[in-house]
Amino acid sequence: MPELPEVETVRAGLGHHIVGRTVDTVTVLNPRAVRRDLAGPDGFAAAMAGRPITNAERRGKYLWFDLDHDEALLAHLGMSGQLLVGDPDRPLGPHVRARFTFTDGGPDLRFTDQRTFGHLLLCELQDGVPAPIAHIAPDPLEEAFAAEVFAARLHRRKTGIKRALLDQSLISGIGNIYADEALWRARLHWARPTETLRRGEVSRLLEAVRDVLTEALKAGGTSFDALYVNVNGESGYFDRSLNAYGREGQPCNRCGTPIRRDPFMNRSAYSCPHCQPRPRNAHW
Ligand SMILES: [Zn+2]
Repeated sequence: MPELPEVETVRAGLGHHIVGRTVDTVTVLNPRAVRRDLAGPDGFAAAMAGRPITNAERRGKYLWFDLDHDEALLAHLGMSGQLLVGDPDRPLGPHVRARFTFTDGGPDLRFTDQRTFGHLLLCELQDGVPAPIAHIAPDPLEEAFAAEVFAARLHRRKTGIKRALLDQSLISGIGNIYADEALWRARLHWARPTETLRRGEVSRLLEAVRDVLTEALKAGGTSFDALYVNVNGESGYFDRSLNAYGREGQPCNRCGTPIRRDPFMNRSAYSCPHCQPRPRNAHW
């Protein structure tokens, strides 16, 4: 599943290739691709034709394109969705769900999705954010992210810190892997009750989250010049730089203690028992 750094790489690439252009025609090849759009496939295609794309934006793992009239094209990539830009004459692959051509006759945009969990939606903007995702909190790389507001809400939430980091209404864009990595860097146990966090610990955690996301972004490596933007491309970060996630039994890169794996929300939480001591009154 693409996380914030992968989606940001796609956003920047699409910003380069399709912002400033005007949509000519839209062909919906599989109605599931627009299943959340109340206008249906034909209505969606008709409403998108002739629209200028003025900006490519992102919040957390959500990606959208600003159009005219305070509307946006929202893309949710799901597990396997891709937005590919390329030669308009290339053959249509079996997984292309929707195709956008542009009035300049240049490269087209194709939404491909092997598993059809992703979808596209034309929607209104609400304070600059698509209405369907207006409840999603800013992510820590956004200018709109306010550290004091986050710290105060975290304190009131009274839950385990990892659970809070994955809660998109509190902070967006942090998946399971990045949560474990940030907690390892900040030396905080994943079950630490949020109401016991001191101000300095919250600052340390936010700094760790930003560092982890920024490093993953740098490792993304997708060239913006290539006429091909691939969201499934592994960022490379995961292979090189993991300190906690997936390292059960391997020595901690700081102290040598074997990394521990605990069950967590049907998944796992990885931590160093020495650097990230288990708290009293933990919220499991
Ligand atoms: Zn350690």
